[in-house]
Amino acid sequence: MIASSKRALVTGITGQDGSYLAQLLLGKGYRVFGAVRRTSRSNLARLEELGIARDVELIEFDLLEFSNILRLVEQILPDEIYNLAAQQPQSPSPWPFRASNRRDLPLLRDDPEPLHTGNCDGLGVARLLEAIRTVNPKIRFYQASSSEMFGKTSQAPQSEVTPFEPRGAYAVAKLYGHWMTVSYRESYGIHATSGILFNHESPLRGQEFVTRKITASLAKIKHGELEILSLGNLDAQRDWGFAGDYVEGMWLMLQQSAGDDYVLATGETHTVRDFVSTSATMLGFDIVFEGAGSNERGIDRRTGRTLIRINPKFYRPANLNQLYGNPLKAEQAMGWTRRTTFLQLVALMVEADDRRVSNKRLTF
Ligand code: NDP
Ligand code: GDP
Repeated sequence: MIASSKRALVTGITGQDGSYLAQLLLGKGYRVFGAVRRTSRSNLARLEELGIARDVELIEFDLLEFSNILRLVEQILPDEIYNLAAQQPQSPSPWPFRASNRRDLPLLRDDPEPLHTGNCDGLGVARLLEAIRTVNPKIRFYQASSSEMFGKTSQAPQSEVTPFEPRGAYAVAKLYGHWMTVSYRESYGIHATSGILFNHESPLRGQEFVTRKITASLAKIKHGELEILSLGNLDAQRDWGFAGDYVEGMWLMLQQSAGDDYVLATGETHTVRDFVSTSATMLGFDIVFEGAGSNERGIDRRTGRTLIRINPKFYRPANLNQLYGNPLKAEQAMGWTRRTTFLQLVALMVEADDRRVSNKRLTF
């Protein structure tokens, strides 16, 4: 018998991190309750891909509705709550009638629903914390905070003590959630932890994000299903880690003797251009970049065919300064390590999309 029969409530379980975290917790013997909004019941593709859709217990949940959250926490009485649900600038709109005419906006980072984002990603955290305080202050809480909270900072690398300078509704709302997590920890003694995570990717990443857009599109080009991949700023850099490593960090945070704040990052950055070239090579292309600015093109040396173009539609109005994290505290205090290298991450994503496109099973 596995030692633990703990109960975990995971919000955002249909997403990338929720799926990997559920897999990790099930493997550790947890009973995993997945909190999903009503529209998500048909969105179990990631859990299905991991083969765990039947092993998690799904419950309807709404980040906007305190009475619903309170009832849920009372019914489940979890030992741990992981709050991974968030409205991201790239997330598809929850309102179907908006989806068709606003499809381009999220990529421009021009959050079309700033108040909704604040309500979900900021006040939603306060609702969960308040439910914990009311039902059982011994419940441990993980809040999915983001490196975007550092925003326009000029300090690098960023750590737990770097001042925040968020820009945009998502980052500002996340910062509210972060400080509420700290406040409930300090004021009510709740084991509440804010994980400040830098970008983490995987084969389960949404195609709205550049890494997955690249691997899915190049796989489609290889299999004759797409002509060209259009991108924005190829020189943009990110600190990209593997989501599987990061969910282990989330779990470790809740196993510590007290709540705290931790940065999870690789400490390395790569450009979008690096990501494109590395993925393309793994798929059998040999890309050379020619031209400059919006006229730059990525050409396959072997065939002379243009595979990559720039579309200024994908430029961001305000790019953040260089963000890369210093995960030393998590490494020293919890023994967390980032196991997957950049090359291994790209390989995982490329192989998954190559297989999915070839089997005509690119379902998310
Ligand atoms: P995903 O976009 O893959 O998943 C987001 C999840 O949130 C989905 O399950 C989605 O459900 C759910 N959700 C969105 N809006 C709502 C809402 N209004 N009410 C309830 N649920 C909602 O994100 P990730 O898994 O990549 O990220 C997990 C968390 O970590 C997020 O909070 C994100 O902001 C944060 N984070 C992620 C980083 C990354 O690089 N991945 C970096 C730093 C922080 P549905 O299926 O219904 O859409
Ligand atoms: P996030 O901005 O860190 O949440 O992650 P994204 O994956 O959306 O974007 C990472 C970087 O890639 C940003 O600096 C974008 O400007 C850049 N980028 C370049 N082209 C694209 C594109 O076509 N789509 C997206 N999403 N980002 C792009």
